[in-house]
Amino acid sequence: MEVYTIGGMNPTLPSPFQMFRRAIALKCPMCGRRPSTMRRWLGHHERCRSCGIRWHREHGFELGPIALNVVITFFTLAVSMVVAFVATAPDFPVATLTASMVAGAIVIPLVAYPFTYMLWQAFDLQSHPPTEPEIAEARESLQKSCSDA
Ligand SMILES: [Zn+2]
Repeated sequence: MEVYTIGGMNPTLPSPFQMFRRAIALKCPMCGRRPSTMRRWLGHHERCRSCGIRWHREHGFELGPIALNVVITFFTLAVSMVVAFVATAPDFPVATLTASMVAGAIVIPLVAYPFTYMLWQAFDLQSHPPTEPEIAEARESLQKSCSDA
């Protein structure tokens, strides 16, 4: 297991498996706690409310969850379409299948959104571990929010 410490005070960076498991449970991939950066189903706090790590760590972060969401949606629709075609062959209920696919294309991204967002955050934290100034800023923001409350 990789130990990620700065100045002997920072927590160990979780393993990739642990981070992705936390992300699927909609917990913060970094600290594993709730409340994390998610606000309700489709919203975000600027930082994890437990450890203070910022979700928008670089420009273009939003493209990752969107791309992952598109892949999951298209994959689910493609598998559903193949299963529906095989199950209903040779008389395809075109109107029903079309309506189902349109409904799926609307519902699946909404359902998958927080999961793709947290999974991408886990991927981002794994591929670019937080730097010492970033962790210090996170701690400072938590202390500031505690003193403001
Ligand atoms: Zn956290």
